[in-house]
Amino acid sequence: MGERNKRKNIINQKIVLLNRAVFCYRMNPSADGWACGSVVEHVPDKNGVEGSIPSTPTMLLEIKENELLKNHSSFKIGGAARYFVVAKSKEEIIEAIKFAKGKNLPYFVFGGGSNILFRDEGFEGVAIKIGNCPSAGGLKIENSSVNVGAGVLFSQLIIKSIDAGFIGFEWGVGIPGTVGGGVAGNCGAYGHSISENVESVSVLDEAGSAGWRIKKYSNKECEFCYRGSRFKNLGNAEVILEIEFKLAKAPPAGGKEKSKEEIKNILLNRRRKIPSHPSIGSIFKNIVIGGLRNKNEFLKLIPQEKIKTGKFPAAYLIEQCGLKGMNIGGAQISDLHANFIVNIGEGRAADVLELIKICKQKVREKFNIDLEEEIVVLPR
Ligand SMILES: Cc1cc2nc3c(=O)[nH]c(=O)nc-3n(C[C@H](O)[C@H](O)[C@H](O)COP(=O)(O)OP(=O)(O)OC[C@H]3O[C@@H](n4cnc5c(N)ncnc54)[C@H](O)[C@@H]3O)c2cc1C
Repeated sequence: MGERNKRKNIINQKIVLLNRAVFCYRMNPSADGWACGSVVEHVPDKNGVEGSIPSTPTMLLEIKENELLKNHSSFKIGGAARYFVVAKSKEEIIEAIKFAKGKNLPYFVFGGGSNILFRDEGFEGVAIKIGNCPSAGGLKIENSSVNVGAGVLFSQLIIKSIDAGFIGFEWGVGIPGTVGGGVAGNCGAYGHSISENVESVSVLDEAGSAGWRIKKYSNKECEFCYRGSRFKNLGNAEVILEIEFKLAKAPPAGGKEKSKEEIKNILLNRRRKIPSHPSIGSIFKNIVIGGLRNKNEFLKLIPQEKIKTGKFPAAYLIEQCGLKGMNIGGAQISDLHANFIVNIGEGRAADVLELIKICKQKVREKFNIDLEEEIVVLPR
């Protein structure tokens, strides 16, 4: 390789320092913007021009190579990502995406990794973990508004909002992961979901030739549905940066104590029901009775007292197929909660996917119901 090429390579590729790599690269914009949501800010590049695209490297970003995704998943399953970044600010998220585009590689963003099954073969692209830090939003409470960065843990949001004298998130105690991940998947429990308190969601997206912009979506524009939202559907075309929640004030007399009591009871209840082995929560969505084509036939097959807030537990159907406790390799359909697959030691994504296939097949045969995954499998 000639001297000039060598130098170019060093500048444009990587300088490996103490097993860590620092990359510089050029970005290559492509996607057009989305139709709804209001643009609240164009993101200035490091050279100070609003929304413009730098033609020279602008920021040193710490990027790891061949990072095992199982180390970033509550399931402890998953092969290596070709590149891995923890992005702690919108600038770092932009840089990470630009890095992926510059290398013509796919990318995905994630938070706590508590709802994702990473495949064994890993990811030939850039995995971007949204970190918890003040410049990604932190946690700010004012009047009845709570502004939270996407990388903040949901558990922190619950505790801090109760401490600040608010009620409304008690139901969420025990749900792992970040607020961004929770909003993308519209996490929920005990008949509640996180979308109930969402006022607005700020996202980062690429505005084609106009560079990068931050858009704010109202609750309605987020297209929340049962365990979903526009953000989950778009598959990371928009990255959630910050969420504004509206919460009610706790009654001055005994409000906080009542919340803490509720939390204690929920935690006790969850401890009885939720398996302790590594998992990614419920694999399948519960069955929305109102949405069934064959509702009348299905209702004849199930104990109707188990229908709660219009949904029937997928766990019951799996259990009735005799699948509780079944294992393949190191993965097992939990014998405590049949909608959980647990990693009982060295479980592989292939084992989990096989169990998922069997559950779907058996439930279809016995109940004529198509189970739908709640979890996300990456790469898709
Ligand atoms: C033991 C256990 C119990 C659980 N109990 C519940 C429960 O009761 N209720 C429930 O709903 N869930 C439950 N879950 C599942 C999981 O904890 C939740 O879905 C959680 O909200 C996921 O958050 P996360 O940060 O881990 O998301 P991740 O798993 O990291 O990501 C999930 C999805 O969100 C996307 N995403 C993440 N961050 C962003 C972002 N900033 N911008 C755009 N997209 C993003 C990802 O691309 C992915 O599609 C449980 C999981 C476990 C392990």
